[in-house]
Amino acid sequence: AKSLGKNTYKKYEQKMKQHYDEYLLIEYYLPIARQNDEFELYFQPKLDLTTNSINGMEALLRWDHPILGNVPPSKFIPIAEETGHIIKIDEWVLKKACLQNKKWSEGMFQIPLRVAVNISPLHFRHPNFVNMLERVLKETNLEPEFLEIEITENTVIDNIEECIACVVKLREMGVIVSIDDFGTGYSALSYLKNLPINCLKIDQSFIKEIAKNIGDIAIVKAIICLAHEMGLKVVAEGVEEKETLECLNELGCDEIQGYYVSRPMPSSEFEKKIIRG
Ligand code: C2E
Ligand code: CA
Ligand code: CA
Ligand code: CA
Repeated sequence: AKSLGKNTYKKYEQKMKQHYDEYLLIEYYLPIARQNDEFELYFQPKLDLTTNSINGMEALLRWDHPILGNVPPSKFIPIAEETGHIIKIDEWVLKKACLQNKKWSEGMFQIPLRVAVNISPLHFRHPNFVNMLERVLKETNLEPEFLEIEITENTVIDNIEECIACVVKLREMGVIVSIDDFGTGYSALSYLKNLPINCLKIDQSFIKEIAKNIGDIAIVKAIICLAHEMGLKVVAEGVEEKETLECLNELGCDEIQGYYVSRPMPSSEFEKKIIRG
């Protein structure tokens, strides 16, 4: 039993060390990723269920490092938040997304698309955030209604007063604001009544099994009802199957996003498939 304990410990120690090394490598390489041109923006379309057409897309960051390979955002975003680099990274994403959308909007026959950008909680609370966003809109010349900011529910709940002030300013500018991962926060719904947002994005965890799970149906139905009563649009994310789409359509969901419509794509592919259609 003693040696088994020792072996188990050794394995555990190795695992810990791997995690630690990976963390350190990411922490080390992340600050120079932007200069070295290792970041790329992918775009995932949003399908409007009422018109059955693409009306926007979410910008998602990808990091391809020469040694580490493709590092997923779930790994590097938390580290970027801890080290504070997220401020610069979000700004880069915002600028890139606005520029790209401006360019696409100029070559479009139909109505321009709305581009959604994720803003980390730390950044959203930064005193300079609204000024930075205003500057980027000015520099890129994008109409504010074609920019959407996604903030998570926990961003709001952690600091309701400041958050309301910030959302009010964004809305005055004409920027669209959405609550991301809705339903996974501490679920103190009361914040909703004072927050002038446009849209709720229901978290994937409620969507995945909706066609089979009565509990999920009930929750999604309630969220859609709540949102519509408050004049908000509802987006479902993580839609991978036709049955899921059909179920959401029946429940009156406004927009969907997920692999069923398309995976996130590099800008060149998005342009070919969505913009030129
Ligand atoms: P999120 O904002 O909730 O983004 C949705 C995630 O779900 C994305 O993962 C997307 O690729 C994935 N997804 C979309 N459709 C499906 C589907 O049908 N099935 C499944 N299983 N997954 C789907 P991704 O790109 O790995 O991003 C993960 C998270 O990292 C994001 O979650 C967001 O919180 C964060 N993130 C990504 N890009 C940025 C960024 O530019 N800035 C900040 N601050 N955070 C970002
Ligand atoms: Ca998002
Ligand atoms: Ca989400
Ligand atoms: Ca998420």
